[in-house]
Amino acid sequence: MVEYDVVIAGAGPSGAAAAKGLVNEGLKVLVIEKKKLPRYKMCSGIIFKKSQDITEKYFGKIPNPAYVAPNFLKGVRFWSHDEQYTDWPFSKDGSGAPNVWRSEYDYWLINNSGAEVWDCYCLKGFQDSGNHITAECYNTSHGKTKLITCRYLISAEGSRSIIRAALDPEFEKGVKWFVAYQNYYEGNSDLDPCFYHGFLDAQYGDVYSWFNVKDGLQIFGTAVKRGVKMYPYLSKYTEMLEKRFGLKLKNMVRKAGCLGNDMCTTGRFYLGKGNVLLVGEAGGFLNAFGEGISCALSTGLFAAEAVSKSIKSGMNALATYTDLTKLERRQTTVSWKLGAKIAGRNLMPL
Ligand SMILES: Cc1cc2nc3c(=O)[nH]c(=O)nc-3n(C[C@H](O)[C@H](O)[C@H](O)COP(=O)(O)OP(=O)(O)OC[C@H]3O[C@@H](n4cnc5c(N)ncnc54)[C@H](O)[C@@H]3O)c2cc1C
Repeated sequence: MVEYDVVIAGAGPSGAAAAKGLVNEGLKVLVIEKKKLPRYKMCSGIIFKKSQDITEKYFGKIPNPAYVAPNFLKGVRFWSHDEQYTDWPFSKDGSGAPNVWRSEYDYWLINNSGAEVWDCYCLKGFQDSGNHITAECYNTSHGKTKLITCRYLISAEGSRSIIRAALDPEFEKGVKWFVAYQNYYEGNSDLDPCFYHGFLDAQYGDVYSWFNVKDGLQIFGTAVKRGVKMYPYLSKYTEMLEKRFGLKLKNMVRKAGCLGNDMCTTGRFYLGKGNVLLVGEAGGFLNAFGEGISCALSTGLFAAEAVSKSIKSGMNALATYTDLTKLERRQTTVSWKLGAKIAGRNLMPL
């Protein structure tokens, strides 16, 4: 007897979309999330057009409490050394892109997926016995492990996936990593808060550096190859923002860091094995300049479609998922090539 048709590890947008798609097909779904919900997620929280369309189609309108001020951002403003900038608008009609706190947006998504959700449960391991999978779910608040059986397992764990590492340790050894870091300060600057600002000069970071405003907080960060010291890049970047854009910092409200990898730029996606599928960043889906919500949502939905077709008509889930994600994989890799063209350099020199 299996307890669930599908267990999903991770309650980010990819997990929520997979859950929603599976529940819509009448399947019994459990989502486990290692953090307490609503959980903090380091992100600029810009909901690009494609993410907005998928969100509205499957979940409805983003609720007001998820929005921050300014509610909409007009576009990305890329700065060059010589005070010049180029604007890339987020929408053709000028309405812009929603500016949200990821904690609130993600929490709303997962609560509207219709799946059973357990927070403070971390997937620690799993065993595939052919006709069912046993997932080892560790409760991070009381330290006990529950064994849950399911027919399919979906990793929606983000860039660091325990499931991917367990399925293919050799693949994992070849993955290269960057560290992203950002500060949140009370303060002000001359940079237009209605834009997301990007600085492509490699002296401020190996990937690129960014600045945006959320509810009055001055948020800025950069990303470097793992193992490289972050501080010299960040201090040079902060100094430049202070001198050139009058950035004035008062109290620090938060600092955060996370890891990302090069699967997206190298086109080395990892989609799964047997009855285990990987979605969103766990599978390697992340577009240029770190836009990842759209492909997290779409791959979550593709995995749901593949699994329900497999359950209902015996199609091979991984083969169907591989087929469904073909265009998304191509778009992801092409986006990094386009990004490199804009920046005039490789944006992931890891
Ligand atoms: C600085 C920065 C800014 C960004 N800005 C934007 C932006 O403005 N717009 C945009 O579209 N994208 C942005 N992104 C990218 C975006 O945040 C990610 O691509 C997106 O969150 C990926 O979604 P996901 O569902 O794959 O993973 P995540 O959102 O990372 O969710 C994974 C979840 O799984 C949980 N988890 C992990 N392992 C386990 C486990 N073993 N068991 C149980 N739970 C587990 C984690 O706690 C987490 O909640 C940004 C990224 C960064 C780093």
